[in-house]
Amino acid sequence: MQTACGIMNYMTDIPDLLERRAAEQSRIRIMLNSMKAEEEAKIIGGEDRVAWVKEEQCIGCDQCTIVCDDDAIELYDTPMASPIMDIEVNRKARILRDPCTGCKLCVLGCPTDAIIMIDR
Ligand code: SF4
Ligand code: SF4
Repeated sequence: MQTACGIMNYMTDIPDLLERRAAEQSRIRIMLNSMKAEEEAKIIGGEDRVAWVKEEQCIGCDQCTIVCDDDAIELYDTPMASPIMDIEVNRKARILRDPCTGCKLCVLGCPTDAIIMIDR
């Protein structure tokens, strides 16, 4: 658009901005899905494998017990490590080796990447 004094106006209007935002959102989503698929393909599961929780990365959020269909994960209480938070205990997840089928669902569901698959 050209203003009265002949200067080109490059201001973006709202619909244009929303359209560009939607296109960018779509591009990012496709890229993240592709990265996630690559990551998932790299995780080796199976009956010779078992899940393992890296305790220091576990925040006790309970997501893994929700996704595990085999009741192979339990939460336990540990003393709270941080003196700045006003709670007495912290929860951590632990894998029960025998019922774990190596399906790796918990690895995909953990928000902090605290679970890995290891050889049985
Ligand atoms: S999903 Fe991850 S962070 Fe949450 S309780 Fe399980 S192991 Fe811990
Ligand atoms: S690998 Fe599968 S069976 Fe084993 S703890 Fe994770 S979700 Fe449960």
